[in-house]
This record gives sequence, structure tokens and C-alpha cells, in this order.
Amino acid sequence: MRIVLLGAPGAGKGTQAKKLIEKYPIPQISTGDLLRAAVAAGTALGKEAKSYMDKGELVPDSVVLGMVEERLKQDDCKEGYILDGFPRNTKQAETLDKMLASLNMSLSAALSVDVPFEDLMKRLTGRRTCKACGQMYNVYFNAPKKDNVCDKCGGELFQRGDDKEETIKKRLDVYNAQTAPLIDYYGKKGILKAVAGTGGIDDIFGKVCSALGIN
Ligand code: AMP
Repeated sequence: MRIVLLGAPGAGKGTQAKKLIEKYPIPQISTGDLLRAAVAAGTALGKEAKSYMDKGELVPDSVVLGMVEERLKQDDCKEGYILDGFPRNTKQAETLDKMLASLNMSLSAALSVDVPFEDLMKRLTGRRTCKACGQMYNVYFNAPKKDNVCDKCGGELFQRGDDKEETIKKRLDVYNAQTAPLIDYYGKKGILKAVAGTGGIDDIFGKVCSALGIN
């Protein structure tokens, strides 16, 4: 199963990816997570990426494409993967197609999680993540029992630097201009599946499974 997850920032791609990998032992490859790890580790790649991420802009393709290619070569990707946050523009989508074609592989589906624009802002400004286990919360819709403490592991919660209001606005603009056209791109290839990303997490997951033809 090789899946691309599409959707605006805050649409819940990461949450649905995490639910999918509980069911299927394939890796969730989030380019945002890989880039944040590089920033935290202070690598050359991380240093280059940081300035773009802080502004809510896309990190240059030259940085992201090499990183994804390396990741897809790893052994745990043999049975498939869920790409979360990649591709983000047409150039990345075309390069992914070429990478897969050279391996005689193709995508199983591109799943678009659709959320009305008005809801995205609250989802993003309310988002908090556990530093220790990565569990996600939302202070408006899915608050932890104790402020800033993870229900699962007791870890400290943090707000991503790019989840501040000014940066969010920019990220949504970038999504509309550069990433939304991929819905058409995969539609034309006949592999697009779309689900409404509103309602409870488990309800959405039910729709995701039906769209992907899994149970
Ligand atoms: P995300 O966690 O997917 O929302 O990504 C956070 C930030 O990382 C984005 O706003 C971009 O600056 C950068 N980023 C993540 N994935 C990509 C990608 N595929 N191409 C370019 N930049 C990316």
C-alpha cells in the first residue's frame, strides 16, 4: 500500500496517518517531521530548511526531494508507506512518479482529506503535540485532561512554531496556490479518493478506510 495524503495544514492528515499505521505496519513518512528533526539536530539541511519553515513557505525542492528519496530507499518501505505532507507541489509529484517508475512501482491512492477553510484556523491554533510520544491534542476539540500534559505518557505538550496565526495564514495561502492543484493531478490519474475531514476522528477514519477499500 503506497498512499499519498493530501489536505490543507490542519486537515488531520497526520492523525489519520497515525490511525492507518496502527492497522498496517508500514511507515508514515511525514516530510514536516523529517524536516523538524533535521532542524532540531542542527544539520546543514535543517539550517537551510528552518528559515522557510518559520515563514510558512515551502522548503526548496532541492532539499526535500533528496531527503524523500533517501527515506524511500530504506528497508521498512518495501511493503509500502504513507506519505504525509509530500508531495506539496507539481514538481514534487512528478519527481515521485519518476522515482516510483524507476522501481517499477506505482501509488495505490492519493487520499484527500477535505476540511472547510473556516475550521482550519481553529484546528491549527489549538494544536498541541507531546514532546515525548508525538500524540496530538487540540485545546478546543480534544484537550488533554491536564493542561500541557500528555494523557498517554505524561510528556510535556508544545505548540509548533509555525502554528502561530501569522504563519498559519501564509501556510494556507501556499497550500491553495501550490498543493491544491495536486487534487486535479491525481484525479486525472484516476487514483484520487476524497473524504470529508469533519466530525470525530474515528468517524473520519471509517470514511478513510472505505475510500481506500480496507476494513
Ligand atoms: P507540515 O508539518 O507538513 O505542515 O510541514 C511543516 C513545514 O515544513 C511546511 O510549512 C514547509 O515549510 C515544510 N515542508 C513540509 N513538507 C514539505 C514538502 N513536501 N515540501 C516543501 N516543504 C515542506
